[in-house]
Amino acid sequence: MFQHESHAHHEQVVFREDRRLGLRAILAIHDTTLGPAAGGCRFWPYADAEAAARDALRLSQAMTWKNALAGLPLGGGKAVLIGDPHDASPAHFRRFGEFVQELGGRYWTAEDVGVGFDSVAHIASTCDYVFGRKSGDPSPYTAYGGFVGIQASLAHRRGSGDLRGVHVAVQGLGNVGSQLCALLHEAGAELTVTDVVPDAVAKVVASTGASAVAPDEVLRVEADVLAPCALGAVLREDTIADLRVEIVAGLANNQLATPEDAARLVDRGILYAPDYVINAGGMLAVSAEIFGDEIPPPSELRARVDAIRARLEGVFERADREGRSPAAVADQMARERVGRDADG
Ligand code: NAD
Repeated sequence: MFQHESHAHHEQVVFREDRRLGLRAILAIHDTTLGPAAGGCRFWPYADAEAAARDALRLSQAMTWKNALAGLPLGGGKAVLIGDPHDASPAHFRRFGEFVQELGGRYWTAEDVGVGFDSVAHIASTCDYVFGRKSGDPSPYTAYGGFVGIQASLAHRRGSGDLRGVHVAVQGLGNVGSQLCALLHEAGAELTVTDVVPDAVAKVVASTGASAVAPDEVLRVEADVLAPCALGAVLREDTIADLRVEIVAGLANNQLATPEDAARLVDRGILYAPDYVINAGGMLAVSAEIFGDEIPPPSELRARVDAIRARLEGVFERADREGRSPAAVADQMARERVGRDADG
């Protein structure tokens, strides 16, 4: 495990099993320098324990960087439960809650892929260290963060964040993509959209007047901005070569397939808003629950999300100054905040 390519000096990785329930879970705490590790738990039918461990290690490290650059007094952690989420019962989640409870608050958990709001309630029945229940759905705040992040990217590139007449191509019209489209439309942007679910496309087209393209066309649409809001690893050597946009600024996690893809975007003259900086809005909003019982009103939560604008600008300016990619600079800024060097 210590030699694993995804092991980045994690502070603690816990493997737990309940054979009676058929439950296997991996809880990864990457770094608690800034505060307790926080990040969701994912229920996924991983091919094997090795694939699950790799995911837990990578995701928990990404949470350290996300929380550090969001200015939150939180570290990075993530948990994965191995199995088909359709087979999961309340007993699985209650038992998982016990695993989290045993860590005594070093790791706080929340919903993620395969673990919905109801499942989180079961986890909370055996565990004190759950967030994202009282503050509700994080996706409006994530979408709002994407909106201000696109404005900041435009302002950096063109000197104005005005969205009137700006053409944005949006890939993925789920929770965050559809809400991002609504905000962009309201601000006067022109939209080209896609999703693999035709109904999702039809709804956004009807409410915003967007043009629709097939899912495999969106990465080649000529536009000002591409906003990936579906899956990870969409920015690869082959797709980057075909991009016809000035800016990539979207909300999906892990958009770059490899670190080298950040340099490929720079070489093509495309400004990239690092994913974990622009998509921290939901975390900024729901993590309020970790620090006290009083959930701030939505207006205050939105004001906190507004800070993404200045954070992105800071990343872009330093990238320009140092002649490096924004993604490399964001990684380094996060490492500096938690006191880790390039290997950590
Ligand atoms: P979601 O499941 O509601 O939406 C994803 C959408 O992408 C779905 O409509 C799906 O049909 C579509 N999709 C899948 N594959 C596609 C493809 N090849 N082409 C086009 N569309 C495709 O998820 P979400 O909550 O909207 O999250 C979207 C992304 O944002 C994910 O990467 C997620 O990790 C990230 N994110 C979400 C939040 C949040 O608050 N929900 C926070 C941070 C990051």
